Amino acid sequence: MEFSSKLLENAVYEVSQLPGIGKRTALRLVLHLLKQPKEQTTRLAGALVSLKDQIKFCKNCHNISDVALCEICANPKRDETTVCVVEDIRDVMAIENTDQFKGHYHVLGGKISPMEGIGPHDLTVGTLIHKVKEGQVKELIFALSSTMEGDTTNFYIYKQLEGLSVKTSTIARGIAVGDELEYADEVTLGRSILNRIPFENSFKK
Ligand SMILES: [Zn+2]
Repeated sequence: MEFSSKLLENAVYEVSQLPGIGKRTALRLVLHLLKQPKEQTTRLAGALVSLKDQIKFCKNCHNISDVALCEICANPKRDETTVCVVEDIRDVMAIENTDQFKGHYHVLGGKISPMEGIGPHDLTVGTLIHKVKEGQVKELIFALSSTMEGDTTNFYIYKQLEGLSVKTSTIARGIAVGDELEYADEVTLGRSILNRIPFENSFKK
């Protein structure tokens, strides 16, 4: 793509770094921004900068939050002994929408994926195990999508928990293999949390 302006080229390049955005789409978006009033673009740029500068991750569950302890962890009505293990905030939002789960979450920040070079140490597995060792967690519910990476991650955590007194379960699979949690409808997802099964039953020994 040949550009008549270096400024235009830079902006298109940065936008095209976003997932799912090719050069052509990036150009369309940038030209759109250029047509908008200056204040709007300033607000957009400002929102992105503040997001990066000011956002916090809950010190207990690693969920994205504006304060040190997220609303869910800070709510005394929630059951801290039942912890639902999820990949990211989208899963927390999906499960919260079902209105069926009143425990805490633990946000891993991804899944183990040797193909993408993501190992357990790139995730928040360490603090999860630490939390269980401290003894306040009675049950861990694995709610990762049932892809190969999801299964690998569940199993890795399960192995780390050997010898610790914690119940492990996994959400019932009304959700088809490979489906992402966030796309499951609320009723199905809600039911799959209520009808969770012991983790040992989810894989062949
Ligand atoms: Zn939290």
